[in-house]
Formats: sequence, structure tokens, C-alpha cells
Amino acid sequence: MKFLISFFLRKVPRKYLQLFSHVALRIVAVFYRGNKVQCPVCESRFRKFLPYGRQSRSNALCPKCLALERHRLIWLYLKRKTDFFTKQAKMLHVAPEICFMERFEALENLEYITADIESPLAKVKMDIHEIPFEDNSIDIIFCNHVLEHVDDDMKALSEMRRVLKPGGWAILQVPFFYPLLKTTYEDKSIVDPKEREKAFGQDDHVRMYGEDYGTRLASSGFRVVEERLIDELSDDEKSLYALPEKEVIYKVVK
Ligand SMILES: [Zn+2]
Repeated sequence: MKFLISFFLRKVPRKYLQLFSHVALRIVAVFYRGNKVQCPVCESRFRKFLPYGRQSRSNALCPKCLALERHRLIWLYLKRKTDFFTKQAKMLHVAPEICFMERFEALENLEYITADIESPLAKVKMDIHEIPFEDNSIDIIFCNHVLEHVDDDMKALSEMRRVLKPGGWAILQVPFFYPLLKTTYEDKSIVDPKEREKAFGQDDHVRMYGEDYGTRLASSGFRVVEERLIDELSDDEKSLYALPEKEVIYKVVK
């Protein structure tokens, strides 16, 4: 299973993966019946989660809603630490994660807009360097695992800041590779996918973020809040929900 998933992640374009993987996984879920782990996003219980990732991690992917460790942590954060599920808000969800989409869509308090440059799942086709919304018009942005792919992340950040209302906030997660670099590394002359994988950790990444990620966010004018919910949870909860070991949630506020 591990190798099969790893193979598909490498060979099948992401947009097709997103469309068809959940159907296949419904079938797989039958073999993961059990009670040891629980997905807070879809509230299903399993024997364990599926392995996932190019360098496969065990106990990672929810077979029912496709939430990964980081999605389960963000969900818990939203539930426990924010008014996300009750406060009226206009939300822009960039490169929307499939595990969140239909649940956010169903929330009556949200005016929910999905956007992406290529994903067929999103309603608005959008280049994040040029967000097609007015200044001060959005309350919440989710833009996870996007900035490491875009040509000019500082421009993307300034666009997000422009469209957010004063007091509006965003969740901006990016992948980190350990040991963490001191400063973010980018080199626009590296364009070959194999070279990019070597330099930036994945063949479609254009930079590798380092310890300065929070500072980089702040330099675009945001107030940065590094939320460490993971440190507040008990070991029992961490293993029940199979959460990431040290994920900081990067929340920025305009
Ligand atoms: Zn789930």
C-alpha cells in the first residue's frame, strides 16, 4: 500500500489525484475499520490512517475525508481557538484542500469562495500574484502549501494583505524540511524538476523556507501569530488524532 500510494503521488498529476483518489479511498477505508484513531474533521474512526507522502509516512491520511496530520491540527485549532464556525465571514480558500471544502461550503456563517490557478475543484480561476478581489473585501484567507510553489511569494503576500479587511486573518502553512535552513533559499536559475527536488525538497517547489518564515510573513506588513496548539495537547490526543509532531500554525492578521 505504502509503495502504491507513493507511486501514484509521483506519477499522477495532482489535479487528477484530487478528483479520483477519494473514490478509490472509499474502498480502501473498509480495510482500515477500527477504533484506534479518530479524524476530527469527518469524525470517523479507524484502526489507523493510511500512509502518505513521497517519502511515505505511516498513519497519515484519513481514508474517508483525505485529511492529513496538518489538516486535523488546523481543524482542532479552528474549533478550539477561533470563532470560525460561527462568525459571519467572507472567506477565500486558495488551493482548497478537499477535506475542508464541503465542510466549509456547508457553513451558513461563511460566504465561501474557492480559488486556484489550475485545480478543477475551485470555483474561481486565479493567479495569486493578481487576486481578482477588491481591497479590504475578505475576512479570512486559507492558503496552505501554496507559497513554496509561486514565483514571487512576497507579491502573493502583498496581494493577500491587500484584499483582507483590517482585522482579517489568514492561515499560511508551508512545508518545512529538517534540519531547517536558517534563511529561506531560492534560486530562480534552478528550473529543472530534478534539480528543484534536490534544492527545494520537491520537483515543483521554487524555494525552501527556513527559520525566517515568520519574519518573511511579517515583512509583508502582517502581524504574525505562531500558534502552537500542538504543545497544549495531551499525548493521548496527539495519538488519537495522529497529529504532526511539531507543526506551528502560521496565522497572520492585517
Ligand atoms: Zn477524516
